[in-house]
This record gives sequence, structure tokens and C-alpha cells, in this order.
Amino acid sequence: MNLLVTGGAGFIGSNFVIYMLGKYKDIQIINLDHLTYAANLRYLDSIMDDPRHIFVKGNICDRSLVETLFDQYEIEGVIHLAAESHVDNSIKNPMAFIETNVLGTSNVLDVARRYWMEQVGSYKERFKNARFHHVSTDEVYGSLGIEGFFTEESQYAPTSPYSASKASSDMIVRSYFSTYGMNVVITNCSNNYGPRQHEEKLIPTIIRKALALESIPIYGDGKNIRDWLYVEDHCRAIEQVFFKGKAGETYLIGGHNEYSNIEIACKICESLNKLMPIRKDEKGITCYEQLIELVKDRPGHDFRYAIDDSKLKKEVGFEILSDFDQGMEKTIRWFLNNDAVVKNNED
Ligand code: NAD
Repeated sequence: MNLLVTGGAGFIGSNFVIYMLGKYKDIQIINLDHLTYAANLRYLDSIMDDPRHIFVKGNICDRSLVETLFDQYEIEGVIHLAAESHVDNSIKNPMAFIETNVLGTSNVLDVARRYWMEQVGSYKERFKNARFHHVSTDEVYGSLGIEGFFTEESQYAPTSPYSASKASSDMIVRSYFSTYGMNVVITNCSNNYGPRQHEEKLIPTIIRKALALESIPIYGDGKNIRDWLYVEDHCRAIEQVFFKGKAGETYLIGGHNEYSNIEIACKICESLNKLMPIRKDEKGITCYEQLIELVKDRPGHDFRYAIDDSKLKKEVGFEILSDFDQGMEKTIRWFLNNDAVVKNNED
């Protein structure tokens, strides 16, 4: 199968491409990534010489490039991950999010439709099983109170330019199912953690700041709750929905690991105290928890996200394999061992 993966040099994309090439022998992955600040080609070191992995530096908004890739590689499926993904950046520069997440997604989707389909509701024989999988976020549903869970029936209520741009792209993808009968699936996942995540995100920031013995900034009162999923589980869920999900459907993916931001910071500090104990005399700090500092909240900070993933379990048969504490330890160890890789993404 010739699979186009967009955003495959980013956090989830690089984990996904490596996972798929490890699992399937008869797959060719065309990895299209613009190599924005969030990407790191060194994440792909282990597969750069694999003939089944073709890396293309390019923008998903570039229609003629995307058309050329479909023609040249006879693309039979798309896993669309490329996006601007950091909420804080979307507050500073929303237009980049609208360009990539809304226009870029629409571009790849429309090229796929024209390449695969003869007319409304009818696929070319060669591409009769071709599918477009849009990877999205639970943030499109806005914020929960202390109780309850998002389901596939929850109302869209995005609150940041990031989540609004993802919500817009979800709507466009849905419309290609209802209008053209295109074979699309959407997954909306909770917060991921794991190896290769960009250092701007919460967990890498906590690890990085702690190791530098700098203050660990936590927004507001630290009580905002997120549901965390180990990235490898997300990759398996994407794989299973891509192969087994029903056309036109949305599936929510969650980790059943709800923690407040302050709890996450404390958990990481606790692990670091064991893995990298602080020498008593450094800056008067004796344990990493002392570095945690509450800072001014960001605007529109959603209080809580939580997922009811029963549809995914029932219809696709997906089961989470990772234990949170073990996943977190693997993540911390990865950052400890790959400091140079994370810092040097210019190579
Ligand atoms: P990331 O920021 O780590 O990676 C995004 C990748 O997309 C980067 O490699 C970047 O270079 C590439 N990219 C950006 N703009 C591009 C463009 N115009 N053309 C081509 N490539 C471009 O993001 P991530 O955390 O790996 O997230 C991947 C996808 O999963 C996103 O769509 C995101 O919305 C979604 N998602 C992420 C999470 C999470 O917790 N990280 C949770 C749910 C859903």
C-alpha cells in the first residue's frame, strides 16, 4: 500500500511512521512535512535509509506538489497529521493555524477526492478502498466541568484559534463524506505524551525546566485537568481506525488518565528525584518539586477534557496497552537520553 502521511517529522507523525514501517512489510510511506520549527528530521534517523520511507519536504497548502505526489506514488490512503498544534502559538499568531489546519487540510482532501473518485459516490476501480484519515483533537469540544465525558455526539465548542481551526477542518472532512460520498474517517484524541514531543509542550517543558533547575511554570492554579494517552497507543488507534473504522464516522480516543497539570508536574518531579537526584548544594534546591511555580493563566484555558471511548472499543476493538507510570518513565528516560537530538534540530 502507498500511504501518504502528512506531518511525519513531528511528534505523533514520527512515532506513527516508525510504528507502521516496523509492523507492515508491504507498505510504502510518503512522508510530507514542511519541517516547521516543530519538526525534527533526526526523529526519523532510524528509517531514513529504509527504501519504503520517502521523505518529501513540502507544504500541504501547495496544491501542485500534493497533486504530483498522488500521481507519482499512486497514493492509496492518507493519514493526515500535519498541523500547527500549539495552543499558545495560536493565540499569538492565529492566521498560521487557519492557513495550515483549515486550508492545508482542505487542499490535501480535495486532491485525494479528485485523484480517487470518478464522480459523486463513485471511486475509480484502482482506488476503491482508498481512505482519508483526519487526525484531530478532543479540544474541538471545548471544556468540561468536573464531571462527564466527551462522546462522538458532543457539541463542537472550540475556544482557542487552534481548536477552532481543527474544528473547521473536521467539518470540511465530514462534508466530503456527505457531499461526495468520500471514504473519510476522523479521530479526535486527548493529550498525547511520549518520546519526540516538542519541548514547548507541557510535559517536555516540565522535564526540561526541572533538569536545568529552572522554575517550572504551571498556568493558573494548576487545577486544569487533561486526559493523557501514551503516543504509541494513539498510533495503534489511528492504525486500527484507518483499517477497521466505518466510512464517515468519528471515533474518540482517550487514555483514561485524568490528571491536573499540577499533579503531572509533581509526578514528573517524583520520577526525576529517583532517576536524577539533585545534589543538595545546588541553588539550595533539594527536590524538583521546589521548582514548580504557578504563573498567570492563558486566556480561554479550558478546565477539563475527558473521553468516553466506548465506540472505539466496541466498533474497532481498540484496547489501551500502556500503563501511565511506565509510559511516563519511558518518556522521561527518552528525554534524558536524547537531549542533544531535541536541542539540535537544524541538522
Ligand atoms: P507537531 O506540532 O509535533 O507536528 C506537526 C508536524 O506538522 C510538524 O512536523 C510540522 O513540520 C508539520 N507541518 C506543520 N505545518 C505544515 C504544513 N503546512 N505542511 C506540511 N507539514 C506541516 O504536532 P503533533 O503533536 O505531532 O500533532 C499531530 C496531529 O495530531 C495534529 O493534527 C494535532 O492537531 C493532532 N493531535 C495532537 C495531540 C497531541 O497531544 N499532541 C492530540 C490530539 C490530536
